[in-house]
Amino acid sequence: MAKADCTPMMQQYLDIKENYKDCILFFRLGDFYEMFFEDAEKVSAELGLTLTGKDCGMKERAPMCGVHFHSADNHITDLIAARGYRVAICEQTEDPKLAKGLVKREVIRIVTPGTVLDTNVLDEGKNNYIMCIYENGDQYGISLCDVSTGEFLMTETKGENKVIDEIAKFLPAEIISNKKLELETKIEKIFSMKVYEYCGWAFEYQTAYKNLCSHFKVLNLNGYGVEKEKNCVSAAGALLEYLLETQKNNLSHISSVKKYSEEKFMILDISSRKNLELTQTIRSNEKKGSLLWVLDKTRTAMGARLIRKWIEQPLIDKTEINKRLDAVGKFKEEPLEREELKEYLASVYDMERLIGKVVFSSANARDLTSLKLSLTNLPYIKRQLDSFPCSLTEEMKENLDTLDDIYKLIDDTISEDAPFSVREGGMIKDNCNEQLDKLREAKGNGSDWLADLEAKEKEATGIKNLKVRFNKVFGYFIEVTNSYLSLVPDRYIRKQTLTGAERYITPELKEIEDTILGADEKIVELEYEIFVRTRDKVAENIARIQTTAEIIAQIDVLQSLGEVADKQGYCRPDITDDGIIEIKSGRHPVVELTSRSGFIANDSDINLQENRLSVITGPNMAGKSTYMRQVALLVLMAQMGSFIPAESAAIGISDRIFTRVGASDDLATGQSTFMIEMSEVANILNNATKKSLLILDEIGRGTSTFDGLSIAWAVLEYIADKNKIGARTLFATHYHELAELEGRIEGVKNLKCSVEEKGKDVVFLRKIVRGSADHSYGVHVARLAGVPEEVLKRADIILERLEEQNGKAKKKQDEVDYTKIKPAKRPVVFVNETHNEIFEELKNTDLNKMTPIEAWQKLFEIKEKIIQGV
Ligand code: ATP
Repeated sequence: MAKADCTPMMQQYLDIKENYKDCILFFRLGDFYEMFFEDAEKVSAELGLTLTGKDCGMKERAPMCGVHFHSADNHITDLIAARGYRVAICEQTEDPKLAKGLVKREVIRIVTPGTVLDTNVLDEGKNNYIMCIYENGDQYGISLCDVSTGEFLMTETKGENKVIDEIAKFLPAEIISNKKLELETKIEKIFSMKVYEYCGWAFEYQTAYKNLCSHFKVLNLNGYGVEKEKNCVSAAGALLEYLLETQKNNLSHISSVKKYSEEKFMILDISSRKNLELTQTIRSNEKKGSLLWVLDKTRTAMGARLIRKWIEQPLIDKTEINKRLDAVGKFKEEPLEREELKEYLASVYDMERLIGKVVFSSANARDLTSLKLSLTNLPYIKRQLDSFPCSLTEEMKENLDTLDDIYKLIDDTISEDAPFSVREGGMIKDNCNEQLDKLREAKGNGSDWLADLEAKEKEATGIKNLKVRFNKVFGYFIEVTNSYLSLVPDRYIRKQTLTGAERYITPELKEIEDTILGADEKIVELEYEIFVRTRDKVAENIARIQTTAEIIAQIDVLQSLGEVADKQGYCRPDITDDGIIEIKSGRHPVVELTSRSGFIANDSDINLQENRLSVITGPNMAGKSTYMRQVALLVLMAQMGSFIPAESAAIGISDRIFTRVGASDDLATGQSTFMIEMSEVANILNNATKKSLLILDEIGRGTSTFDGLSIAWAVLEYIADKNKIGARTLFATHYHELAELEGRIEGVKNLKCSVEEKGKDVVFLRKIVRGSADHSYGVHVARLAGVPEEVLKRADIILERLEEQNGKAKKKQDEVDYTKIKPAKRPVVFVNETHNEIFEELKNTDLNKMTPIEAWQKLFEIKEKIIQGV
């Protein structure tokens, strides 16, 4: 298309679109945002809008669709959330009434999945992170920001898997990078996310460094501990640049950047996070049924986000863990004081996101009032901390700024019942601005003047029902019903005729109107000015407000953990560095709340010596998985600083928890189930250390029996070997042969899920005891699940045969002859003599040479064969 042929408006559109090719351009025209050409086609299809056309000087009309500005936010959210589009919002930047010629337009913001600010869209219990990855060989700089709260983080790491782990930890809504990443396909498959390639120059070290210095108003970054970490500086600087470019706004609420080290936290890879169902269930991706669901009794949005982080990032430093545990203990012990504290917390709004709105100038008077109401509670919360004395609460008390001046500022200025809009007055209190008071007085007197005028005119004209009234179109007027029209004096100027009345104005009324309406306009303008000034003053105090919000979040998480510990009867774990995990009567935190038939507690005794690796056998459904996950969850809970569901426990710190638990559909990354299983095993064998805790459920089940058994066996040996890994491990298996390894490999012990057989029925006792199971009861479970009886009978027979060859005859594995287990045939029917084995056998049997017992024996065998269909 030739731009020169286009109308000026379309030329302006094309000029702007040129710079935002990868965005959908919402182009403001009056009350609508319009989209053109390809954007219009895409959006109309996505949102189901009518596609029209606009004459723009070219031969053909330009495809066009539009949305009213009132509903634009919802449409933008849909485009971003559902499809990951980026939307550039182009506004009219001058008043159309004052514009000479074409109204100026500019893109004022680009909304992307990671930079959504609309609090109606954001989940208050979750951070909305944008992540920036700087790939430099196999070294990576990573930075993260939650624009809605101002949190800004960075770190460095090595290797693709670590990057995937970080993505799994933060689950960002958007990822940007310096180039097409090697691991992009992996990210796409695992997280269903596309990575946005951002301009490479922003990652250039010097540029990124300067960018950070100028934003944080510092001469150098020495205070951030990144002297040597160039990669994370690149990632952070580039992310900041991206945010400035897309938000086109003051980002002063991003007031510092924290360097975190993954070494400070327990490492959890993506499958462990999923398998342990930390924040959502595997089956339905819901919070209900997850560990977060059990532990989250927070009262504030900030607390809800923080407890999620504590779960996602358990600590590994004993002192830090104990500091949290001390505090949780205090909160547990004082239920009454805790209740009072909870009430104060419940009235605290989402201060972090409110301050974000303040900085983005999108906060209205109601938001400031919400902030003020939140601040009202701070002195009480601070005082309440005295009831839970420990080092952490003392620290918090010392740092908790109750922000009295900000409270006063808002309280003195902003009216509690301010309207939603900041452009219609009614926001500012009386007596806080002299000029405003005067204008209000004029406006107030205006109504007295109108009342006087009405009375005077009634008197002068004798029109008893004469009324001075107002509407938006005609302003003030005098209304006279038709029955009194004869009394209307000549000085009245007719304005409007209605069916039953006439409306007039007089010069005097016009004068009063000018004063009143002028005052109104001036009041609205002045109120807006005062409001913005107040909001800006609040914004200047961001860092203080953020610190306070962080402390409130911590208090909230601690009270939440205290409450759960108290209500669910949790105990304080004894944190050690000796690797011993000794749990008395441990329970699974989720299953104990969801199980209808009550939960059976179990002990665990794991250490780095003789009880390093437990081989757990037992029937299906007996509770192996539950038990293993329970141990992992209890360790994780202890390290996040929570009490745990047990009578008593010593927890030796783990640097990582690895889990390999059945392949789940969620992980379907285009590889076969067995491939996924083996990749996970490889990851564990390559990365586990002596300090790790390994939960391995059913290794080698995805392939043929001997293949699988051999792999499981070799993996077990490798893990148990102190010179290779020597990690504490729970190893559940259906290969009972592995139980033979107790006594043969150092550190290996057998555990089994006990069951009781009552005739044909099997009762699961859910008790984990020493020893190994002798059979699987798989057929029994299949029966419970409703598998047809015919199939079950056949399975029983095959099983018996196998056991005859293998188990009962105590043959070695490689002597088992599977060819003897022939495929099931249809029942034998004596129709085809030549192909019928039994018929042949019968034919060759000489009954005369048999004793009655032998004949009976033969008959018995034949009957067996018929049943088996052999
Ligand atoms: P499979 O080998 O088939 O995977 P499993 O031995 O791993 O089975 P689990 O899935 O752990 O068995 O447990 C089966 C069911 O038993 C679970 O749904 C759980 O609710 C219940 N269960 C497990 N352990 C306990 C327990 N200690 N107390 C009460 N119920 C339990």
